[in-house]
Amino acid sequence: MLLKRTHGAGTLRAEHEGQTVTLSGWVRKRRDQGGVIFIDLWDRSGLVQTVFDSSECPAAHAVADQCRGEFVLAVQGLVRLRPAGTQNDKLDTGAVEVRAISAEILNPSKTPPFQLTDERISEEIRLEHRYIDLRRPQMQANLKLRHQVVKACRDTLDSLGFWEVETPCLIRSTPEGARDYVVPSRLYAGKFYALPQSPQLFKQMLQVSGVERYFQIARCFRDEDARADRQPEFTQIDLEMSFVEQEDVFAVVERVISAMWAAAGVELETPFPRLSHHEALDRFGSDKPDMRFGMELKDLGDIFADSELRVFQNALASGGRIRGIAAPGCAGYSRKQIDDLTQLARRFGAGGLVSILVESSGYRSSIQRYLTQEQVDRICERLSAGPGDLILIVADRASVVSEALNRLRLHLGQALGLIDSTSWKFAWILDFPLFEADDSGALSPSHHPFSHPKNPRDVELLETAPTEVIGSVYDLAVNGVEMGSGSIRVHDPRLQLKILELIGISEEKAWERFGFLLHALSYGAPPHGGIALGVDRIVQMLAGEQTIRDVIAFPKTASGIDLMLDCPSELDAAQLKELHLDVVLPAADDPA
Ligand code: ASP
Repeated sequence: MLLKRTHGAGTLRAEHEGQTVTLSGWVRKRRDQGGVIFIDLWDRSGLVQTVFDSSECPAAHAVADQCRGEFVLAVQGLVRLRPAGTQNDKLDTGAVEVRAISAEILNPSKTPPFQLTDERISEEIRLEHRYIDLRRPQMQANLKLRHQVVKACRDTLDSLGFWEVETPCLIRSTPEGARDYVVPSRLYAGKFYALPQSPQLFKQMLQVSGVERYFQIARCFRDEDARADRQPEFTQIDLEMSFVEQEDVFAVVERVISAMWAAAGVELETPFPRLSHHEALDRFGSDKPDMRFGMELKDLGDIFADSELRVFQNALASGGRIRGIAAPGCAGYSRKQIDDLTQLARRFGAGGLVSILVESSGYRSSIQRYLTQEQVDRICERLSAGPGDLILIVADRASVVSEALNRLRLHLGQALGLIDSTSWKFAWILDFPLFEADDSGALSPSHHPFSHPKNPRDVELLETAPTEVIGSVYDLAVNGVEMGSGSIRVHDPRLQLKILELIGISEEKAWERFGFLLHALSYGAPPHGGIALGVDRIVQMLAGEQTIRDVIAFPKTASGIDLMLDCPSELDAAQLKELHLDVVLPAADDPA
């Protein structure tokens, strides 16, 4: 390399006029006008026009003549103001150009598989050639933003006395929640490591070790079924603190989140509002409510207490709910539009949807003959609705009513343009039940089995009414997205055994699977708690990207494939043998 870079291509301005500079970068665009060749030279700092004039500098022109798209080129030249009328306002460097004195091709390039200036390249091609895709300005901006946001997080935690500690990636398989990815051991035939679903137990043990304030930008792995915007590996800001209550965790996280948003140029107001899990479901039908708009859910059960409508009677008799929302200005909705809303409600479990179109002269409803004007008036009052509005009611099991109305609310919020896409509405969601029960009554932890019951009364309820136990468990939600979750942890080994037993892990099994944790808790574990925040999602939201893949340098597809590496892939026979593995493929007709 003869020419050594002195400036970034994107940094040149009018004030550099008259300077001799050396640039190195990629040929983004080349226009040959006979004796003069123009090359837009790009590097990470931006792009500038370089000019190779055969009458000024025939040697440099000869080099430019050989250049093609994405060749790597070094250019030494003189910065000149562009001639009047040829400035380019769209470019930061648009006032100047660099007139080449000498040039050197550092490496040629094959013709790229897509035009880097093209906005509509298929994602498959982009992912297969990710190293080129990442040269596009949008992807460069995302990588840079991610760096800045994560750095702000690190710096803030450092300033608050947190230590960054790495925890292992090869660990013991302790499946709960999602499936583990496992790694066969060559040295120990028939034995396996697992990749961590999160550093949860390590960060707890670091508290036993007296680290007091731990964090890690941690890679986590979960072998779940593919879902559109989920990755098999993802990054969390994982943190844990000793001698704290949940408010102490919130205060730290509010500082961290504010710094991360500030790094992206957004100022946030803290503290974030706190909503109990119960209140969130009650008002929004969701434990990650989008609070950028109203349309809150209201209970209408009392208004329909004497209704003759069978669905209402059944819902109330079986302990279900009748609840509704009001969509402003939608009283003119057509039959087809109401049918579409009904389909949406059905998709999320509702048996049907009751609609009332409120007009100044009365109302029209799908249950016209079961309604009285007085009932409609009371509903309108409760929902703050009036003529011109559309009321939607679902009667069913409480969870179905919440989910269906939540989906309708989100859909209508979007469709009616009620959501201010520039605003950030954070909320802490608190007081989750410690357990969820399935239809058979079997309990599973609402988050994970290491969370502490909230109050002494909740500890007592473990014995008598575990489904009523509230946990010191919290989520951070923003704009309808769950951004993180955490809890105050169990630090008493007997209580930990009790909670494991309630979710069906006997004492013997508990010692077998979590013996290291139970031992650690027995040797002076301080009270502690923490949280994990999803980095990929945070950067995606800050970048305004539609998919999480656009803020991950080398993501997998929605179906978990790495198109660049072409994996998962097979192992050859020698490798399998060394790992003591036999592969049994499912038969063609076996659904597994
Ligand atoms: N380990 C939990 C998770 O990954 C978060 C936490 O409780 O800190 O979801």
